Amino acid sequence: MKLTYDLIKEKIDKAVDIIKDIYPSFQYKGFTKVRISKARSKWGSVKYNRITGDFALTISNVFEDIQNDDKANEKLLNTVVHELIHTIPGCMNHGPNFKYYAALVNNKYPKLNIQRCTSMGQFGIQKTKKEPLYIATCSKCRRNWKYYRKPKLFDYISKCKCPYCTTYTLFFSTIKGIAI
Ligand SMILES: [Zn+2]
Ligand SMILES: [Zn+2]
Repeated sequence: MKLTYDLIKEKIDKAVDIIKDIYPSFQYKGFTKVRISKARSKWGSVKYNRITGDFALTISNVFEDIQNDDKANEKLLNTVVHELIHTIPGCMNHGPNFKYYAALVNNKYPKLNIQRCTSMGQFGIQKTKKEPLYIATCSKCRRNWKYYRKPKLFDYISKCKCPYCTTYTLFFSTIKGIAI
């Protein structure tokens, strides 16, 4: 599914109808900003500006990784409704107020399932695991040390001794198969 601003806008309109249905006095100010992010840690988030009283919505492009379009659309609506509940007074966290409105939505719209959070694994999304960039290996015992950034000892590696074998030197290789 291609995640576009138009698609998000369409979901926001639907979400507003749903919230107004379960909470008729809901006064929707609207998300003043909508942003698509590359952050893969969460589906979406909402930021409140205390000074202006504005709400900004961020939606992760991780939705594009959901293979099934129907599921992706459903999950997107779920996420937008979830974030919209956060704009109801007293619902910024996932406390009792949030849970109360989430339960109202879930009861009236059985196809939706508003939760505090849902795992990405169930949608077939793999979290990209951080791999070390450099691995220093002992030429004798093959013990190794992983570094996620270029280590300071990179330039002196041939002078470094393995703390276990003490006389043998270390060498670097990268994990991505490219020898240094
Ligand atoms: Zn939330
Ligand atoms: Zn060693």
